[in-house]
Amino acid sequence: MKRDRHAKIIATLGPASSTPQAIEALFRAGADVFRLNFSHGTHDDHRARYEMIRQVEASIGRPIGILLDLQGPKLRVGQFAAGKIELAPGQEFRFDMDKTPGDETRACLPHPEIFSIIQVGTELLLDDGKIRVRVENHGPDYANVRVLTGGPLSDRKGLNVPGEALPISALSDKDRSDLEFGLSLGVDIVALSFVQRPEDVAEARKLVAGRALILSKLEKPQAIDFLDEIVELSDAIMVARGDLGVECPPEVVPILQKRIIETCRHQGKPVVVATQMLESMISAPAPTRAEASDVATAVYDGADAVMLSAETASGKYPLEAVSIMNKIICSVERDGYYQRIMDARAEEPETTAADAICAAARQVSATIGAKAIVTFTSSGSTTLRAARQRPPVPILCLTADIKVARRMALVWGAHGVVTADISSFADMVQSGCRIAHRDEFAHAGERVVIIAGVPFGTPGTTNILRIAWISDQH
Ligand code: PGA
Ligand code: MN
Repeated sequence: MKRDRHAKIIATLGPASSTPQAIEALFRAGADVFRLNFSHGTHDDHRARYEMIRQVEASIGRPIGILLDLQGPKLRVGQFAAGKIELAPGQEFRFDMDKTPGDETRACLPHPEIFSIIQVGTELLLDDGKIRVRVENHGPDYANVRVLTGGPLSDRKGLNVPGEALPISALSDKDRSDLEFGLSLGVDIVALSFVQRPEDVAEARKLVAGRALILSKLEKPQAIDFLDEIVELSDAIMVARGDLGVECPPEVVPILQKRIIETCRHQGKPVVVATQMLESMISAPAPTRAEASDVATAVYDGADAVMLSAETASGKYPLEAVSIMNKIICSVERDGYYQRIMDARAEEPETTAADAICAAARQVSATIGAKAIVTFTSSGSTTLRAARQRPPVPILCLTADIKVARRMALVWGAHGVVTADISSFADMVQSGCRIAHRDEFAHAGERVVIIAGVPFGTPGTTNILRIAWISDQH
């Protein structure tokens, strides 16, 4: 079973998509990676979903990527005695550390860090930016504010302090326990929410200790000041447009999206464009023209993956959302203009043997019309470097490590396959051709470009390129 596209699809699982049948249908429709969103649900819910995905993986026989999305230090107000209040423009209101349920005059804000960074005049946003208030005076454990834009405010709604770097770690206590739980299940990718500084990624890396890829979600404008460093320290990046669009004005989000994608492509790190991609499909069976165009734009930009959130987690049309996303990606990638953009914006190889071979593989496959690039890799890094070149053909990732094969589900153009290590040239050609043929990337009489490293089985040695014909015996 193969995909006819390079860009990948991430689908978030939730109440609308948590049976083995639903997960299998989403996979068949095009979902490459499933996201477990730890902002919602219990450990038991996530364990059940994790096991269902692995069950589907075993029955279909294709590696599936599983992404654990940590909630991160999302700031939230406390609860209200009535569950909900109404804030009127111009009225006064107070945030404090008192755990008593709030009312029309005050609410608990259980984050002392906020009181330490706000000043008179600081604006605070509530409920994804729908409500705005301005600080009039404050102390170490309270702030009196004036409501600028009013509206309903209910229990545990989020709060943002735009423009401020908060003196808090990217990992809360809940995140740490969720992380250990997810890693013990065997998740492939861990997403860090609200990354602000390179140190946030370094801290997570120590805890994850190689057990999963680390994906940093860029959703605070402060993180953009350290864009190069954060991309370098991360294994992958998400343009998290939901919170990013609350923290900075809407006209800035598309510009940041392009800048983040460009930085990731330059460094060869997988990049995901996320949030509101097919938002109207939460309640409608077809997307708006603007949404279709938004997905297409991410694909034309060369993003590795596009993501669905509530569309597949709690919407009415999860399967339709994945299907239409699949169709949009396929139709963009068939457009001649797309390949011309990929060619025109190809990254220069860095001065390493592996990059030289990967750039050559792209050129050779285009010149001779080969059907695929076959990479042999123990860590996945050769496949990633080949993907960085954005070649016009699929990239097979042949590896002995199931974890590496699963991680490839996130990577542009990559098709992960678990296979025994190779020990000779004959073995390399034989197994590369056999798998390319078996998985229907190339038929008898067609060619593939194989890249590997000699001595075989030694990581970091990529140094050979072989053109091989597929024969009837394969
Ligand atoms: P979330 O992250 O869905 O976990 O909030 C994505 C975003 O903010 O865009
Ligand atoms: Mn977010």
